Amino acid sequence: MGATTMAEVGITTHARSRYYFQRELETMPREKLAALQLERLRATVTNAYEHVPMHRARLEAAGISPDGLVSLADIERLPFTRKADLRDHYPFGLFARPREKLARLHASSGTTGKPTVVGYTAADLDTWADLMARSLACGGTRPGDLVHNAYGYGLFTGGLGAHYGAERLGATVVPMSGGSTERQIALILDFGARVLCATPSYALAIAELAEKQGVDLTKSTLDVGLFGAEPWSDAMRREIEARLGLKAIDIYGLSEIMGPGVACECECQAGLHGWEDHFLFEVIDPETGRAKPEGEPGELVITTLTKEALPMLRYRTRDITKVTTAPCDCGRTHLRILRITGRNDDMLIIRGVNVYPSQVEAVLIGLPNIAPHYQLVVERHGSLDHLTIEAEALAGVDPTDYAVAARQVAHHVKSLIGITADVLVKKPGEIPRSQGKAVRVRDLRPKD
Ligand SMILES: [Zn+2]
Repeated sequence: MGATTMAEVGITTHARSRYYFQRELETMPREKLAALQLERLRATVTNAYEHVPMHRARLEAAGISPDGLVSLADIERLPFTRKADLRDHYPFGLFARPREKLARLHASSGTTGKPTVVGYTAADLDTWADLMARSLACGGTRPGDLVHNAYGYGLFTGGLGAHYGAERLGATVVPMSGGSTERQIALILDFGARVLCATPSYALAIAELAEKQGVDLTKSTLDVGLFGAEPWSDAMRREIEARLGLKAIDIYGLSEIMGPGVACECECQAGLHGWEDHFLFEVIDPETGRAKPEGEPGELVITTLTKEALPMLRYRTRDITKVTTAPCDCGRTHLRILRITGRNDDMLIIRGVNVYPSQVEAVLIGLPNIAPHYQLVVERHGSLDHLTIEAEALAGVDPTDYAVAARQVAHHVKSLIGITADVLVKKPGEIPRSQGKAVRVRDLRPKD
C-alpha cells in the first residue's frame, strides 16, 4: 500500500475515481491492448471453427482460416452472427463445449417462439465475475460496500451477474431480486445500502413507493446506482438521481455476449468503457454492414475474445450508438460507447419518422404535471401507423387539468420529435409498473 497524500484525502471524489479492480488491465496502453486482441481473436476463431459446425461452415464459405487473420482489420472478413442464429440452433447448437462441461445456463424469454439459451464454462463464469467486479468498481462501488441487488434472479443474467461481481469485488450483497417493493425500501434503510443495482424503470418504481410512504431516500445511505438492461434517457437519469439521491451509472450487457458488465460508465459519466481485453467492438452501417469511422453512429457489433462455451463472432446487437477511443479522465484506456438510448428493434416508424421510446420519455420528463411513466401504443388505421402516448399525471394534479396536460404533451412531441400523436393522460398509478424490464411499447398493428 502506498502512502496516501493529504491532497488525496482532501479530494475524496478524485481519490475514489482512482480505484480500479484490475488496474493494469484497465489502464493498458492501447497498442498493447490491440496486440492482445489479435492474439485472442485468433484463439476465438479457432475455437468457433473447431467446435461449432455453423461457424465452421460459414468461415469456410468465406474462405477464412483462423491462421489467416493477420491484423485486427481482418475482422471485417468474418461473417456476422445474429440473434436468429441462436434460435435456429436452439438450445445448444452454437456451444463450443459439450453440455456436460458447462457450469451454468441462462435464457432470455423470446417475445415470439423459442427463448435464447446461453451457456458458460467455469472459466467463463470466472471471467464474468471479474468483469462485473471491474464494472461495479468503475461506476463507484468499493470493497466493503453494501450492494442491494434488485435485478431479477433466475434465467435472466442481471441478478446472478451483478451478484457474483459484487462478491468478487469484496462487497456485501443483498440478493433481493425484483418485486416486493415495500420490503426493498425497508431493507435498503435497515441494512444501509450504499449501492443499488436495478433496471432504471424499477429504480423509479422504488423511488415512487418510498415517496408515497413518506420515506425520503435522498437522505438514505444510497450513493451509487448501477442501472441497465433497458434503454433510458438522460432526462430519466436526472430524475432518478434527484429522487433517490445517488449517482446513476449506466451499465451495459447482453446475454448473447456475456450478461451485464460488457461495458460500464465510470464516474465521469461520459460514455461506457467497453472491456476490450475480452470483447472486440465495431460500429457498422446496419444497411451495408460496412465499418463506420470512429465517432459516427451505427450498429454496435461485438466479438467475444475469451468465451469458451459460446464464442460469438461479430454479433449484431441491433443497438445504435457511436464509440470513442479518446482518453478518459478516469485513466482507463478502454474505448467508450456512447449511452445507448435505443435499439433498432425498439425504433418505431410513425408515418415515415423514426422514433425511439426514449425520445418520448425525455419530452415527458421535462413537462410539469406529468409523471415519468408511459407506454406507447401503436395501431394501424387503414394503411397508416397511429401512435397514442399513454402518460400519467403527477399526484395532486386536478383531473380537470388532464386534458390541458395532454395537449401540452402532444404539442411538445410534435415540435421536438416531429410526430403527431394522440395523448391520453391517466391517473397516478394507472400505467403498469415494471419489476424488471419495462414494457414501453404496445404494438397492436396486425402482424404480416
Ligand atoms: Zn472513464
